[in-house]
Amino acid sequence: MSQPMTVDCPTCGAPVEWGDKSPFRPFCSDRCKLIDLGAWAAEEHKIAGAHESEDELYSGDLEPRH
Ligand SMILES: [Zn+2]
Repeated sequence: MSQPMTVDCPTCGAPVEWGDKSPFRPFCSDRCKLIDLGAWAAEEHKIAGAHESEDELYSGDLEPRH
């Protein structure tokens, strides 16, 4: 078994050799790694923004009863 193990880059799908030759594995390059991290950050911002507006909606709806 002399065939090197390869994985697919999660960002662009290019084959990446799993070994010391690929310091950014499972990504094929530093660029693809940064793109993936950026996608995560953008998604987190989206969720945080939606949660904030929901809280505002509820606090304005509650009125004290007498
Ligand atoms: Zn890639």
